[in-house]
Amino acid sequence: MIEPASSGRAKCRGCDRAIAKGELRFGERQPNAFGEGEMTLWFHLPCGAYSRPEPFLEVQGTAPESAELEGLAAAARFGIEHRRVPRLHGAERATSGRAHCRSCRELIGKGEWRLPLVFFEDYRFNPGGYVHAGCARAYFETAELLDRVRHFSPELRDADLGEIAAAIAAGPAAQAQ
Ligand SMILES: [Zn+2]
Ligand SMILES: [Zn+2]
Repeated sequence: MIEPASSGRAKCRGCDRAIAKGELRFGERQPNAFGEGEMTLWFHLPCGAYSRPEPFLEVQGTAPESAELEGLAAAARFGIEHRRVPRLHGAERATSGRAHCRSCRELIGKGEWRLPLVFFEDYRFNPGGYVHAGCARAYFETAELLDRVRHFSPELRDADLGEIAAAIAAGPAAQAQ
């Protein structure tokens, strides 16, 4: 369902940030993992469209039409066409040099830009490792990733986003020198 948030207490399952009272939110009903009945997972609209594209598309037609929803529906379709894209969960500099890239299997050097992945399992998102920014195009089969990076990592500055975009465009040959 899509409906205005009745309070400001629910946290978004996609990004873990609060959903403001009155803001439109996307709710996905699931069997209650802890007992009887059902529970609802709430998402900000962009988080739902990016991370749960199939259920988002099922309900987006029930909400009043808007340019924002049109754009989000397009983003959800993009995530279905590129099946790994919904796993993308922002970008960050590697805090250690110990994680292996899930695309090329090489180590990601400390300080390099990496893209965290999440997997939706058992009604929640579990951390699923990282890919080098330079491996993103090979892994996601598209380079159109910046909107999602910006959305899930709002703390990044324009200069950071520029570096990440350049690393994605450069591809795997340019990294880890
Ligand atoms: Zn969110
Ligand atoms: Zn890699």
